[in-house]
Amino acid sequence: MIQRNVNLSRLKAGYLFPEIARRRREFAAAHPEDPARPETRVISLGVGNTTEPILPVTCAGLVDGARRLAGEATYSGYTDEGFLELREGVSRVCYHGGFSPDEIFISDGSKCDIGRLQLLFGAGVKAAVQDPSYPVYVDGSVLIGAAGGWTGAGYGGVSYLPCTPENSYFPDLAKLENDSLFYFCSPNNPTGAAATRPQLEALVAAALKKGCVVVFDAAYAEYIRDPALPKSIFEIEGSRECAIELNSFSKSAGFTGVRLGWTVVPKELKYAGGESLNADWNRVVGTIFNGASNIAQAGGIAALSPGGLAEIRELSDFYLGNAKRIRGALERKGVGCVGGDNSPYIWARFPGRDSWDVFAEILEKCRVLTTPGAGFGPSGQSFIRFSAFGHRRDVEEACARLETFL
Ligand code: PLP
Repeated sequence: MIQRNVNLSRLKAGYLFPEIARRRREFAAAHPEDPARPETRVISLGVGNTTEPILPVTCAGLVDGARRLAGEATYSGYTDEGFLELREGVSRVCYHGGFSPDEIFISDGSKCDIGRLQLLFGAGVKAAVQDPSYPVYVDGSVLIGAAGGWTGAGYGGVSYLPCTPENSYFPDLAKLENDSLFYFCSPNNPTGAAATRPQLEALVAAALKKGCVVVFDAAYAEYIRDPALPKSIFEIEGSRECAIELNSFSKSAGFTGVRLGWTVVPKELKYAGGESLNADWNRVVGTIFNGASNIAQAGGIAALSPGGLAEIRELSDFYLGNAKRIRGALERKGVGCVGGDNSPYIWARFPGRDSWDVFAEILEKCRVLTTPGAGFGPSGQSFIRFSAFGHRRDVEEACARLETFL
C-alpha cells in the first residue's frame, strides 16, 4: 500500500480552529441552547472570520465580473499572475506605484500563498516565527519537512522568537539565526501589536546582515489607524533585498469567502546563489496555480476604486468599533489587554493561568467562544485572543456577559 507523507504525522493533533470547533460541539452537547432563553446562545469572538456584508461598490464589481464572463467580447479565461489592471491597482494604491506589475502576483488568498511560498525554500530552510503567531507558518513548515515533530512546547527545528509584554511584543532580533526564513506579521495575529517604523528598520537591518528572507504578512494593514505605523515592509529602505509581502482582501473588503490576495516578490530579492526569487515564484505559481477567480479579481479592482477604498475604511472602522467595545469591557474587569486599536484582535492576559482553562471558563460562565493563546505558540500561554469579527448586537451582548460573569 502507498505510504502516507510522514510530515502529516508530525502535525500536532488538529489545527487550532477545528480543535476549538470540537470543544464547542462538546459544550453544546452538554449545554444545549434554548431558543426561548437567548442567554444560553454561544457567541463567537473566536475565529477571525468576517461577518458583515460586502458593501455596494465592491459588490457591484463582483457582479459585473460575473456578467463579463457571459459576454463574448468580455469573456476571460486563465489570468496567470492576475489581471494587469488589478496588479497596477495594487501597486498604485498600496505601494505608491513602486512595483512593476510583474512583481505583484494575484492569489486566491494569503493562506494559500503561505503554503505555496514554502516551495521556494524547501525542506532545508530554517524557519523562524514570532511567538505567538498565525499557526499556518509553522504548520506549513512541518508539511514541507522544514520543521520536526511536536515537542509539547512547539515544533522541533522552528525558531520561536518570543513576543511578550516584557519586549513590547517585538522579538529580540539577536536570536534570529543566520540564513533563516522569518515569518513576520504586523499588525500581528494574535497579539494585535503593530510594529513601529524603528522596529521594522531594525528587522530589515537584521535580515540583511544575517542573510534572512522576511515573509511579511500584512493581512491586517488596513486596520492601522496610527499614521506613524508602517502598513508595508516596503516602506523601509533595504526591504526589497530581503522581503516578500503577503496581503489579502479578506479582512479589508470582507473577501474571506470570495478569496483574493496578492504577494509582492521584488526583483532585487536573490537567493545565496544569486538566483531570482521573483522568477522562481513566477514558475511556482505558473506550475501549481492557475490564477485567482476572474470574478473575485473584478471585485478587487472595484475595492481599490475611490468608492471601494471608502468601503474598506467603513468596514474596518466597524470592526475596530467592536474591538474597542471588547477591550473596554475586559479592561473594566481588570484584565490587561493589548491590540484592538490598530488591529481587529485583542490579546488579553490572565497571568499564571492555562489559556485552555481560561477558554473553558469564559465559555462556561459567559457562553462566549474565544481562542486560547497557547494555540498560537508557547508564548501565548496565559493569554486569550478575542476577535472583533462579529455582528454589533452579538459583540455588545458578549461584552455585557463578560462584564457580568467574568
Ligand atoms: N495571514 C494572517 C495573519 C491571517 O490571520 C489570515 C487569516 O486569518 C490570513 C493570512 C489568511 O488570509 P486569506 O483569507 O487571504 O487566506
